[in-house]
Amino acid sequence: MADRDGLIWFDGELVPWRDANVHVLTHTLHYGMGCFEGVRAYATEKGTAIFRLKEHTDRLFDSAKILGMEMPFSKAEINEAQRAAVRENNLKEAYLRPMVFFGSEGMGLRADNLKTHVIVAAWEWPSYMSPEARELGIKVQTSSFTRHHVNISVTRAKANGQYINSMMALAEAQRGGYDEALMLDPQGYVAEGTGENVFVVKNDVIYTPSLTACLNGITRNTVFHMARHFGYELVEKQITRDEMYIADEVFFTGTAAEVLPVRELDGRTIGEGRRGPVTERIQSMYFDVVGGKQTLDAEWLSPVA
Ligand code: PMP
Repeated sequence: MADRDGLIWFDGELVPWRDANVHVLTHTLHYGMGCFEGVRAYATEKGTAIFRLKEHTDRLFDSAKILGMEMPFSKAEINEAQRAAVRENNLKEAYLRPMVFFGSEGMGLRADNLKTHVIVAAWEWPSYMSPEARELGIKVQTSSFTRHHVNISVTRAKANGQYINSMMALAEAQRGGYDEALMLDPQGYVAEGTGENVFVVKNDVIYTPSLTACLNGITRNTVFHMARHFGYELVEKQITRDEMYIADEVFFTGTAAEVLPVRELDGRTIGEGRRGPVTERIQSMYFDVVGGKQTLDAEWLSPVA
């Protein structure tokens, strides 16, 4: 990732990709205190546009506030940084990674001279999963790793250190031949995937876990709007793993994963064992909305030009 052409926005300036470096004593590298976003820009008829830029920037600032990290830039500056990262790298479609971290000003948990730094990188990252997975669905295993407890590592923050948990769960699932892990919360209820929120469809009602152990996903929120548009009842509640086994459909959502059907969980076939009709409607509308072919909210697409 480091050795390539391009520009990265780093503390207010666009710097050459290869020069966007930090010291090995960077505080965040040692303790994981930092926060980030995963954002996507899509090609639309009116040019490249970032999907739900405002909401991603709001969540980044919320994460920093929860962690107690002072943001040295305004939301308007971070929004423009994201537009610039796509525009100045001439990207038609892109994955964007804004990240907020402590520098190498001090070491130790008591360091009191730390400065908050911000980067925004953007690159082409077409699909998180194979194109077949979008249609046929993925194989998932309930993880032996528990998702975060709200008072151990705050769950509303998209914090760097949280992803140790995701990486261990995903590696375990992949070693077992699965595509993704389903993580349960400390009470044993369904929380989310390692980088996705989860939805269950039963008798045309859509269910998703309440926001206690899962991230407040922006794609999750987009699905809420689409469910309302289609007239589906959508319920946030505690969900058990056995409810998932007997669901008609299960799907994951996330900026990277987009809308992804689950065809199998813990060796049980979900529904018909492929993308179900509700998932297909939601997924198809999602691609129309991010690509500007259909509008649910005119504020959702921010042109980069
Ligand atoms: N849960 C976790 C743990 C995630 O990392 C992500 C990706 N940011 C999501 C859910 C989905 O969030 P969003 O739809 O905002 O990308």
